[in-house]
Amino acid sequence: MSELESLTAAYQNLKARNQNIDMTRGKPSAAQLDLAAGMFDLVHSDDCKGEDGTDYRNYGILAGIPEARKLFARLMETAPDRVIVGGNGSLAMMYDALAGAVTFGVPGGDGPWNGAKFLCPVPGYDRHFAICERLGIEMLPVEMLDDGPDMDAVEAMVAEDASIKGIWCVPKYSNPTGAIYSDLTVDRLAAMKCAAPDFRIIWDNAYVVHHLTGEIATVKNIQKAAEAAGNADRILTFVSTSKISLAGAGVAAMSASEANVKDALERMFFATIGPDKINQLRHVRFFKDQAGIEAHMKKHAEIIAPKFAVVEEALSKAFAGTDLATWTKPEGGYFVSVDLTDGCAAETVKLCAEAGVKLTASGACFPYGKDPRDRNIRLAPTMPTPDELERAMEVFCTTAKMVCLKNKAG
Ligand code: PMP
Repeated sequence: MSELESLTAAYQNLKARNQNIDMTRGKPSAAQLDLAAGMFDLVHSDDCKGEDGTDYRNYGILAGIPEARKLFARLMETAPDRVIVGGNGSLAMMYDALAGAVTFGVPGGDGPWNGAKFLCPVPGYDRHFAICERLGIEMLPVEMLDDGPDMDAVEAMVAEDASIKGIWCVPKYSNPTGAIYSDLTVDRLAAMKCAAPDFRIIWDNAYVVHHLTGEIATVKNIQKAAEAAGNADRILTFVSTSKISLAGAGVAAMSASEANVKDALERMFFATIGPDKINQLRHVRFFKDQAGIEAHMKKHAEIIAPKFAVVEEALSKAFAGTDLATWTKPEGGYFVSVDLTDGCAAETVKLCAEAGVKLTASGACFPYGKDPRDRNIRLAPTMPTPDELERAMEVFCTTAKMVCLKNKAG
């Protein structure tokens, strides 16, 4: 029997198992959510006051409670008055920032962003691209390298075209490749000459403390670099505790220049009288400080690092020494990015689904859902149990190899 024939037979056997495993999104597992269980017992009806005696059950405090602004300021390496602590998701804050730019404009610009374009390092995060699509911001892909976007391409494009208003960046343990932006990339982004005076870098630091190994990556502070280059208003930084505490009940924050913070608060004023301060208080009491956050993240790593090891082992076993696939070995974050032979991703995702393993849709990591080479697949190992993950990887590797070999055989 040829390798392709035996893989095809193995695939049919796997299909007959009638499995149902969901690896579509980077969700934390229940075991990870359990780590934050103590948070539910930290704020009681007779105990909802802030350090200065303010009753957090009531309306108000648009920028977030001072204790939370202090906690996030340390996480985001800035001053508390440069931080807005919001609701449960950073995506909502990013959406608001860009919807505000399109509707009203931003500091330093000359009004609403009409016909705006955005640079999108690819592969990237599908929800970023969805925001642009929704708001009619045209997306221009740029290649993601190991140390950030292809800066030669970025610099050339932003210098030329004043309608390019921004770029999406996930600077640490990027979604999905795990790339970590180098100091040089940070400096170039902070200082590059942009034709648009109101250019914005969306610095989505979603995985700032999400290390998988003892190697703790640091990324240069882009806000400080931009200030030094005279571009203080260029950067909007976002974080959240979605993958620190509870994905559905965390706390998000934005930090930026004084002008951008003022602009964001002015927008928010019309949308809300204030955020969920009780949840913010819960988070402050639970984590206490940066050391508390870091200690907590070690517990996450203990749960998820073995899952990433399962993925790495399965991929190595199936593909090491072949020319069929390459993949990332992230030191943090939530994903492994696999590049198969060109033209094989969509078919692999489809056949995996038929064999009971749901993967992120092929093309999802590209603007408009279109992977021009149809080769990239994002694996999200955190949600399944280790046993499910082993079975899912068996399906993935068998299917992907079968599809790639079939493709090779023409
Ligand atoms: N940014 C990135 C890069 C992400 O991967 C995710 C979650 N998948 C988010 C933002 C979503 O964050 P939040 O839950 O804070 O909206």
